[in-house]
Amino acid sequence: MLNLKDPSLLKQQCYIDGQWLDADSGEKIAVNNPATGEIIAHVPKMGTAETRRAIEAAERAWPAWKAKSAKERSTLLRKLYELMLANQDDLAVILTTEQGKPLAEAKGEIAYAASFFEWFAEEAKRVYGETIPSPWADKRLLAIKQPIGVTAAVTPWNFPSAMITRKAGPALAAGCPMVIKPATQTPLSALAMAELAHRAGIPAGVFSVLTGSAKEIGGEMTASPIVRKLSFTGSTEIGRELMAACAPTIKKVSLELGGNAPFIVFDDADLDAAVEGAIASKYRNAGQTCVCANRLYVQAGVYEAFAEKLAAAVAKLKVGNGLEAGVTQGPMIDMKAVEKVEEHIADALAKGGKLVAGGKRHALGQSFFEPTIVSHVTADMKVAREETFGPLAPLFKFETEQEVIERANDTEFGLAAYFYSRDLGRVFRVAEALEYGMVGANAGLISTEVAPFGGVKQSGLGREGSRHGMEDYLEVKYLCLAGI
Ligand code: ADP
Repeated sequence: MLNLKDPSLLKQQCYIDGQWLDADSGEKIAVNNPATGEIIAHVPKMGTAETRRAIEAAERAWPAWKAKSAKERSTLLRKLYELMLANQDDLAVILTTEQGKPLAEAKGEIAYAASFFEWFAEEAKRVYGETIPSPWADKRLLAIKQPIGVTAAVTPWNFPSAMITRKAGPALAAGCPMVIKPATQTPLSALAMAELAHRAGIPAGVFSVLTGSAKEIGGEMTASPIVRKLSFTGSTEIGRELMAACAPTIKKVSLELGGNAPFIVFDDADLDAAVEGAIASKYRNAGQTCVCANRLYVQAGVYEAFAEKLAAAVAKLKVGNGLEAGVTQGPMIDMKAVEKVEEHIADALAKGGKLVAGGKRHALGQSFFEPTIVSHVTADMKVAREETFGPLAPLFKFETEQEVIERANDTEFGLAAYFYSRDLGRVFRVAEALEYGMVGANAGLISTEVAPFGGVKQSGLGREGSRHGMEDYLEVKYLCLAGI
């Protein structure tokens, strides 16, 4: 069982309209610890009817929530931020146990997740409108911003806490209730957050969490005319389906989808810094983040040296149960994820790639996988096109700046990109030429609540975090005042 200071944070019911409930059918879904294979909890298997009730509760809660002053909403969100930090250790244990990432990373995620409530508690007070110079002498023109209405969120398992707060923070701050469906693999972090939202005094119906059938819950969220906006983080494939399902009701959508991040190391780079960045960007969360480096392009002059240094750094990674001290790479989320990494490695090796490190399932069993490096990777290999979402660093060799920009952009994705160079002119040229929503120059970790997170091309729509994150939950209303 989980070793929690406050065991009441481990919730096995859903939180709808301020109440803890089971599914109508009484059916449950087991939650598994990927490091041990043990079942750690059961959560309700809810469907269409329960989702409809949660949406209707949100609709009832909306008028009073939007009528609160921004400062009142801000105070409640600030309280939720403080409660998350006060319970950071327990929330991290829950997260690691259901998701697998090392405890230090889980604690980092809880702090990052909480920061969205802090940031948007502040931004709540800064939803400014505008006055527009009037073309008519007797009229005055204004634009005001108002909450969009009832919102819904579908979130993934790789950041079970932060992917919720990045959506719920701006939604609640703007005055929108939100109904949330966490990933089936990681419902416990979401339910623990619901408990804290309850303790913070967020009114019934404003923040609801349902677990269960993705198809039924997602189906009702997208079909319901009450829901004015859907925010989704997950695969491009499901994002496309959800966007199509939102079309009949002309719902607004925010999508944060797959990436295929290039990580470019130029001849003039600080190689040690580049290796440190590559380790952080590639192996964090066992390579299971949408901004993980997926393709490492290394310029010919430093290719061998970089490969050697990266292999030395990878040799220091410690694979194991995330709850154990010193572990830097936990298990992968499930065997399907393991199989995808194996498929990419086998394909690369069959087409001429060379194994530099790792390459197979880890001796620990379960879904543990060795941190892997493959060199001599070429554009015809699967890993060049598809997101691996695992601890595999494929090393491509390139000659010129122009060539690598073209290769980096040769993908339908456009989420994050990274490059290392100490030439200031090149830094600007490359940063501007990369067709990505986010670029890290000499940085492998770039996420923060104060900056806009999001992708271009088929990596998504909208931005989360920063002041831009608020706009996604607001409508602009034009007021024309005549007779003046
Ligand atoms: P991942 O590859 O990260 O698991 P998915 O896109 O499969 O990404 O899942 C992300 C989220 O979308 C999860 O909460 C999952 O349960 C949910 N989901 C998957 N299929 C559907 C669907 N057809 N309708 C609604 N939600 C879905």
